[in-house]
Amino acid sequence: MSDDAERKMQFLYALRSKGVTDSRVLSAMEAIDRGPFIRGIFSNRAYEDMPLPIACGQTISQPSVVGLMTQALHISPRDKVLEVGTGSGYQAAILSRLARRVYTIDRHSRLVREARELFDELGLTNITAITGDGSFGYPDQAPFDRIIVTAAAEDPPGTLMEQLKTGGTMVVPVGQSDAVQHLIVVRKKPSGVEYEELRQVRFVPLLEGLGKDT
Ligand code: SAM
Repeated sequence: MSDDAERKMQFLYALRSKGVTDSRVLSAMEAIDRGPFIRGIFSNRAYEDMPLPIACGQTISQPSVVGLMTQALHISPRDKVLEVGTGSGYQAAILSRLARRVYTIDRHSRLVREARELFDELGLTNITAITGDGSFGYPDQAPFDRIIVTAAAEDPPGTLMEQLKTGGTMVVPVGQSDAVQHLIVVRKKPSGVEYEELRQVRFVPLLEGLGKDT
């Protein structure tokens, strides 16, 4: 077995051992190589199950957390998904293998531009990446079947709740940036909204307005 194949096998094994068991999610994560989403000196650590620095002082999330969040969404191939927090574009690329259409939004135009370039290179044609403040969602395409927020909010943002279809699911880390945050699954049902706490996490904060590119 080549070194690359061996690393990939260990990567998938680590995901399974941390609770990512949905075969569609595992296939998507097998198909999308994390390497190209990490530019610069950390690119050789792409197969490690840890968050890594990207441009604009942001991070690409830990693969097992990407897997668990994706799994919690139970995406169907008909779904229209909104991601708040494009970052490297890795999470959006995984979503694009499972959903009909993905809209991903980030407050840093540089991150959006670089992610778009990668989506083009990888032939991921069902993703639209937008620069903007994702706390306001993306009204042009609302409502969404699924919403995933990859930055920590103090509460599930009300605007995003409004842009979630009845019957839809949102996954969002909730808590202050310097404290323990909880990954919350929000299910909007005709009978009311249900909340489930998945696990503790640590995400960069959901910030207001557009970011300065660095
Ligand atoms: N999902 C990303 C990936 O796959 O690489 C990781 C996202 S990173 C942990 C969080 C991202 O949320 C950052 O890129 C940050 O710029 C973005 N962000 C923070 N507040 C935001 C907001 N209000 N609207 C849009 N993006 C925001």
